[in-house]
Amino acid sequence: MQRITESVMTGQNPVQIDTSRPHPARMYDWYLGGKDNYPVDEAMGRQMLTLDPRVPVMARVNRAFMQRATRWLAGQGVRQFLDVGTGIPTEPNLHQVAQRITADARVVYCDNDPIVLAHAAALLRGTDEGVTEYLQADVREPDVILEGARKVLDFGEPVALSLIALLHFVSDEDGAHELVGRLLDALPSGSYLVVSHATADFTPEESKAATDKLKAAGVTLALRSRGEFARFFDGLELVEPGVQVPQQWHPELGEPVPGQDDGVIPGYGAVARKP
Ligand code: SAH
Repeated sequence: MQRITESVMTGQNPVQIDTSRPHPARMYDWYLGGKDNYPVDEAMGRQMLTLDPRVPVMARVNRAFMQRATRWLAGQGVRQFLDVGTGIPTEPNLHQVAQRITADARVVYCDNDPIVLAHAAALLRGTDEGVTEYLQADVREPDVILEGARKVLDFGEPVALSLIALLHFVSDEDGAHELVGRLLDALPSGSYLVVSHATADFTPEESKAATDKLKAAGVTLALRSRGEFARFFDGLELVEPGVQVPQQWHPELGEPVPGQDDGVIPGYGAVARKP
């Protein structure tokens, strides 16, 4: 396939965007009604909608889960956040949710897609008291992420590691569970893990068709069962109400997303504490 790239300026540095194939961050932006996507992303997004018209609702439900989980963590006194697989900035971003509760919260964002780097400036506008930083890195290189995060976060104090709608893009061959373990090993007792993840448990046929279509376009989708999802939290203490479909995790901490209860949201969300 011919590689078509577009140059986008970030500060002084041009970032190369591959517009020859769809990218998850840009498809997700399209589902959310954002403007930072390309025709190739919209075309694949539309194919996903023919398989399941609820995908945009799922994206919003996932975003709302991120907000409620962050609110809950800030309410527990967590002041440091490491968010991997951040996505294209979408208001409110994680640091805005956290800093509204804890003005001096410190947040490190990380994504491997250059489109996120191109728009990272929006992730860096936080409170005067707080700190936000962006790392361009891949979750498959946890040491690079940890080294960068350590410059901003104090690993002697609890850190909330959020991997929100990220791990279904990381295959077992790439060691998804081991990678999460390596990130958590660096964090102290009292830290938290937040994960949301798509599953084929409720919609096996549509999920298989979506996985096949994305694979043909060069995107890995590693849907996981409830048991495989729960295994990300091995050795941790799941916070009540445990593993849930995302909209049922502490719904009282936010507003319901329109349409969220009109059918199945094929995903899971959970938060757990490192003992
Ligand atoms: N966490 C955000 C965005 C989810 S979309 C939210 O839930 O709203 C998934 C994001 O993961 C995309 O931005 C994509 O670029 C990123 N991603 C996918 N694979 C990755 C990898 N191997 N390393 C880092 N980020 C990755």
